[in-house]
Amino acid sequence: MKKYNFYAGPAILPVSVLQQAQEAIKDFAGTGLSILEISHRSKEFVSVMEQARALVKELMNLDNTYEVLFLQNGALAQFHMVPMNLLNEEETAAYFDTGAWAHGAMEEARLFGKVHIACSSRNDRYSYIPEAFTLPENPKYLHVTSNNTIYGTQLQFPLSNPRAPGVPLVCDMSSDIFSRQMDYSQFDLIYAGAQKNIGPAGTVLVVVRKNILGTVRRSIPKMLDYRQHIDKESMLNTPSVFAVYVTYLTLQWIKQQGIQSLEQQNKMKAQMLYEAIDNSTLFEGTVAKENRSAMNVCFHIREAGASSIELETRFLQFAGQRGLVGLQGHRSVGGFRASIYNAMNLEGVTALTQAMAEFERQL
Ligand SMILES: *Cc1c(COP(=O)(O)O)cnc(C)c1O
Repeated sequence: MKKYNFYAGPAILPVSVLQQAQEAIKDFAGTGLSILEISHRSKEFVSVMEQARALVKELMNLDNTYEVLFLQNGALAQFHMVPMNLLNEEETAAYFDTGAWAHGAMEEARLFGKVHIACSSRNDRYSYIPEAFTLPENPKYLHVTSNNTIYGTQLQFPLSNPRAPGVPLVCDMSSDIFSRQMDYSQFDLIYAGAQKNIGPAGTVLVVVRKNILGTVRRSIPKMLDYRQHIDKESMLNTPSVFAVYVTYLTLQWIKQQGIQSLEQQNKMKAQMLYEAIDNSTLFEGTVAKENRSAMNVCFHIREAGASSIELETRFLQFAGQRGLVGLQGHRSVGGFRASIYNAMNLEGVTALTQAMAEFERQL
């Protein structure tokens, strides 16, 4: 039975992408070789890499002042690559502390320079995103996380207070990239691990405005230097061929669907699910309503104490029997998390809301 995949990442991919990937494992682009065994220098794969990079630019509507890279080591590696490439020791970078990933990114920056906490909801278990934030004098850049995957809060753009002109905006967009229309040119550096909304695990997308690079004095190892990767067009060493290929297929799917229509569908799915939670006497949402994410919907069983833990286990089983998988919340927060990325259709969300209602009824 094909399951409804609510895992946060690696996560659901469009069925058509999985089918194309299967074909390419047997015979990639009529080469008579599998995508798993082809040279990354073959003209067929070089073309995939070029098209994937071009597609990102096209979907983001960015000009040639930006470069697109597919790197490795996940979004986590960007936590140190960003300050290593942008921040001198005596300079200060500002960070939104709105979740465990955001916090992790900030802590890595301390290895390279000074950090200013622009806003933080850490003392409230990251259950909301602060409305206001502060910036230090002459910040080198501002780092934000657009969607806090673990807690289910999402940032709206443009940011509430205007940034001083000339302060680069860096965004970890791992869990909501291409889920909604936005002006991507407001960002100077965007990164996103592929495995949440645009592909399988194994590659991380980096989009960078070239003119923010080249101002740090430290020596940077080649593999950690954006300019080296730009020079070699994401082929400084062997890229993760398969992950880039499947990401390329997913980007094509996104283009076919259109981000506008994906956004509409995402809004509809989220609204359906939050309505089911709010109308229930058993379940309740765990974050501030105004910051609710359209990608990761977090909720739990209303009553406190030992029985709610038992009920949570029972609901997970109940849902599992209906083919709904991946609903357990992140291990640091518990409860439930339904990740409803682009590839999750309305049918899956309907199946979940029905399971929630049935479970409540039969108690
Ligand atoms: C999952 C996630 C990460 C970590 O990604 P990896 O690719 O596993 O390194 C970082 N930031 C956000 C917002 C995430 O959701």
